[in-house]
Amino acid sequence: MTIKVAVLGASGRMGQAIIQALSETEGMQCCAAVVRSQSAQIGLPVPNLASHQYVDLATGLQQKPDVLIDFTLPDALAEHLGAATTAKIPMVIGTTGLGEVAQQQLDTAAANIPLLYAANTSVGVALLEQLVALASRSLPQADIEIIESHHKHKRDAPSGTALLLGEAAAKGRGQALADVSAGVRGDGLRAADEIGFACIRAADIIGEHSVLLAELGERIELTHKVSDRSVFAKGALKAANWLVKQPAGRYKMADMLGF
Ligand code: NAD
Repeated sequence: MTIKVAVLGASGRMGQAIIQALSETEGMQCCAAVVRSQSAQIGLPVPNLASHQYVDLATGLQQKPDVLIDFTLPDALAEHLGAATTAKIPMVIGTTGLGEVAQQQLDTAAANIPLLYAANTSVGVALLEQLVALASRSLPQADIEIIESHHKHKRDAPSGTALLLGEAAAKGRGQALADVSAGVRGDGLRAADEIGFACIRAADIIGEHSVLLAELGERIELTHKVSDRSVFAKGALKAANWLVKQPAGRYKMADMLGF
């Protein structure tokens, strides 16, 4: 059976990468390239998707997708979750910059549909998360700082991935990031136990993250670098393929990968 995917945010950098990856993936196809309902792109042809035009969400749902993949902006989340819940369609969400209210909305939707949220859909970052938790647990005295670099169009900072790695580092020590985060580093001395973030925004960097664990005289750096957006797209497709077979609930990449 071919899995029919509706791509939300289809005209964006990630939407285009997902459409491209779908065209190279057997057993999956893009059935709808969805953009926001007021978008001037509605009705225009979709690059790399012969005989398809951009549509709004309601039109996209008429294609009866098996799964929705959403890489948009936080203000689109409530509408997208509402539509997926009403139509009972599993959903993979990669949008970053979500606040606490949005996280609760994800939990509520996941009571009714299978939902996988990942601030980073690469397999490498799912593994890095585990390594960071292990390292922070093993080196309880080390100062931890997270350095991330992204392209100049990125809106949120620190990146969703940096926060995810910060959570993993804090969790490794039995803490919550909210209690130990120093946020983006500015003036002032470092406090013990703090986890600070440094953010670079430049040109076309797709995504780089380093977790630094420093003790006096030695340091470990755990680094992940992406040089092609297709890495996120392929991870999202792998997640979608797995999610359509799961019962309702909230899942992470680590659940899908069996880590
Ligand atoms: P982009 O700006 O290129 O594309 C965003 C898309 O969302 C556009 O097509 C835009 O029209 C659409 N959109 C915006 N508001 C909308 C709304 N209200 N309703 C419907 N559609 C709406 O951005 P991008 O680089 O493709 O990134 C998209 C999101 O994915 C960002 O949050 C980014 O941080 C995140 N991202 C996640 C991962 C991951 O692995 N999870 C990787 C890369 C990017």
